[in-house]
Amino acid sequence: MDTLKRIGVYTSGGDAPGMNACVRAVVRTAAAHDLEVIGIRRGYAGMIEGDFVEIDGRSVSNIVQQGGTILKSARSKRFQTPEGRARAAANLREAGVQGLVAIGGDGTLRGASIFTEEHHIPIVGCPGTIDNDLFGTDETIGYDTALNTALENIDRIRDTADAHDRLFLVEVMGRDAGFIALNCAIGGGAELVLIPETLVELDEIKERIHSLMSAQTRSSIVVVAEGEELGGAQRIEQALLEDGAFSHIDIRVCILGHTQRGGSPTARDRVLASRLGAAAVEALLEGHSGVMVGIVNNEVKLTSMRNVWSRKKNINYELLKLTQLLS
Ligand code: ATP
Repeated sequence: MDTLKRIGVYTSGGDAPGMNACVRAVVRTAAAHDLEVIGIRRGYAGMIEGDFVEIDGRSVSNIVQQGGTILKSARSKRFQTPEGRARAAANLREAGVQGLVAIGGDGTLRGASIFTEEHHIPIVGCPGTIDNDLFGTDETIGYDTALNTALENIDRIRDTADAHDRLFLVEVMGRDAGFIALNCAIGGGAELVLIPETLVELDEIKERIHSLMSAQTRSSIVVVAEGEELGGAQRIEQALLEDGAFSHIDIRVCILGHTQRGGSPTARDRVLASRLGAAAVEALLEGHSGVMVGIVNNEVKLTSMRNVWSRKKNINYELLKLTQLLS
């Protein structure tokens, strides 16, 4: 490979707080090594359209604290076709891009590993997703912020639930993974948590809610991950409303939704994103490709992207037991 002179960076898939801190670290680390950086706007969609912008150390001033992503993010169906990827590779070559840093979730890294195998443009990935569901890193960029946002909202809901002796079903993000749900259930003192990794039968949920609401005249909070097996908070509410045994309970649903994606990243996310952005550039300089940089036991670790998207990161089942013990 020619000596690296110019690299590209992009954010892709669902945005996550801390992506900007990561972009900043990529750009500033590159500058420290005399590398030029091209920002690719709107992820793979922008790569296919040649939506490129030159960025230097100054262009990333004052973004470390901002949520969202200055490079914008998108999902692209065209990138899933060989023609789309060929177009993207041609644009990158024309712009003189010799290596890439991809910031995104499992879909983004899956696309990146297919792309680098097909077109031989080196890519190093950074785990950027609020879901925390990537193998190869203890935490992903955006997870800590999303978790704390969810927790803050649960605290608020607790106040109003308590004032009216209500049962609240609070739905948090997590289509395939229950990391946010499980941890904010513990932090928020929820009485029950439902996550995609475990199937709790409806009868068991009903029984549990029934005993919770009759054992105490106070409120209850059930945290439901959006990808939970029964179909989310609204489905569960419907099932409870259709059952006469719950007619005396005032049930409310609160879907936290996209509030969890936005906002200024926490200190933890900023530091994580900064470490990973810098490590990604250093990995590219060392000649690595097709790998994701992660932090495991507080140390930078490289994991093959194929492993990242083909292996599953497990939740800590001890924590699930803890929610039951403490509720
Ligand atoms: P999040 O987990 O936050 O949703 P993500 O990176 O997993 O983020 P996806 O929408 O799954 O988000 O993926 C982002 C983009 O990656 C897709 O829009 C697509 O362009 C590309 N991509 C995903 N899977 C593939 C694939 N199998 N082949 C090529 N490209 C892919």
